[in-house]
Amino acid sequence: MHDHFDVVIVGAGMVGASLACSLLTCMPALKLAVVEAFPLKTPDAALSSYDARSTALSWGSSRLFEKIGLWSSIAPHATAINKIQVSDQGFPIAARLDRDRLNLAALGYVVENRKLGIALLEYITRSDQIELLAPATVTDFRPTRSGSLVRLHQENAEREISTQLVVVADGSESGLRQKIGIHTDVEECKHAALIANVSVDRPHSNMAFERFTESGPIALLPLAAYAEDLHRYALVFHLHRTECDRLLKVGDEEFISQLHSRFGYRAGRILKVGERNKHELIQARAREQIRQGCVILGNAAHTLHPVAAQGFNLSLRDARCLTSVLFRAHENGDDLGSLALLDQYMDLQRQDQVRVHQFTHFVLELFTMKQLVPRLVRQLGLLSLDFLPAVKSEFIAFTAGLRSDL
Ligand SMILES: Cc1cc2nc3c(=O)[nH]c(=O)nc-3n(C[C@H](O)[C@H](O)[C@H](O)COP(=O)(O)OP(=O)(O)OC[C@H]3O[C@@H](n4cnc5c(N)ncnc54)[C@H](O)[C@@H]3O)c2cc1C
Repeated sequence: MHDHFDVVIVGAGMVGASLACSLLTCMPALKLAVVEAFPLKTPDAALSSYDARSTALSWGSSRLFEKIGLWSSIAPHATAINKIQVSDQGFPIAARLDRDRLNLAALGYVVENRKLGIALLEYITRSDQIELLAPATVTDFRPTRSGSLVRLHQENAEREISTQLVVVADGSESGLRQKIGIHTDVEECKHAALIANVSVDRPHSNMAFERFTESGPIALLPLAAYAEDLHRYALVFHLHRTECDRLLKVGDEEFISQLHSRFGYRAGRILKVGERNKHELIQARAREQIRQGCVILGNAAHTLHPVAAQGFNLSLRDARCLTSVLFRAHENGDDLGSLALLDQYMDLQRQDQVRVHQFTHFVLELFTMKQLVPRLVRQLGLLSLDFLPAVKSEFIAFTAGLRSDL
């Protein structure tokens, strides 16, 4: 006999953990196992989702976390984005997006990934319905007549657990996705992202900045004050890999001066820069996301370039949609792993996924082109974003996660 769970989630990164919380809130009687390769109880474990990055959650994502019952734990660490300034180096006009246009409390919120991780994992560990197996690594799973048998390696021993549904949320490099023979379409990017927190000499006033420069897009996201650093931003600097490596090595003073030369002083004078980290970037999509008894979720299903800050927001909507489909099946006593059921999930989320991919691809193409014509198109885009109310409202709605169908 094996321990049996209704659902087994592989990976307690931001997506796997969010799905676990969502399922738990909706179906408190469901028996879940979450398997994570990292030792979550070690406070400084460099778990890939919960590293030094910050995430821009759309307003829509904050509402989803509210429904899940998690927003009250996340909100104290979240900084509202009330305005976004979008500008292009060498072009005098900047577009301004404002929450007031759609009467929203905020366009979105910035949360440090570590804080998000604490909120998610505390929620999971408080529950009796979820067995959190960490550190443990799922090495394989195979279909049986009544579901799947999941093999895992924990504390130098092999263990098998059975389930109706395996959710593979083990990240971009997904070993399990490869193991079951699902191929991905990968677009290599020339860019890497340089991540750091910076302190400036004036309040951020809940304004985020996106600036398109010769070297690549730069985003500054407002962050909550920390100790003596009152005015902070999370910096995401997209650069050619070699330039990224160079800027990782230069001294702080030189780095700040290089940043100012591209970004200007629109957010104030940068006083301090924290630890700098590099993230390799790819865009990838799994060719299949569902099979009998199995769903691929999060970065394992689709890894997006962070230029439009949509990756996690999209995955959270995927997780919420999967929850509602499973909820109906659970109410009816249906098999949670049936292909017909998982097809319903895919049908509901397909368009959202395609459009977010197209949008991200479009932003990336347009804003990394250096030739004159695309730059003119981009500047026309900024003008229309600033001057055409209908374009502005639609763009804000998309950014805030209110429309996935722009
Ligand atoms: C620089 C950067 C900035 C970003 N900014 C934003 C943003 O502002 N807004 C936004 O919406 N998105 C953003 N994203 C995207 C977002 O970070 C990802 O969507 C998210 O991290 C994906 O999480 P995940 O849980 O799918 O994968 P991961 O974070 O990779 O988690 C996978 C987990 O699975 C575990 N695991 C792997 N294999 C196994 C196994 N065999 N058994 C058990 N466990 C296993 C791993 O240890 C890991 O914890 C950004 C991405 C980058 C790179």
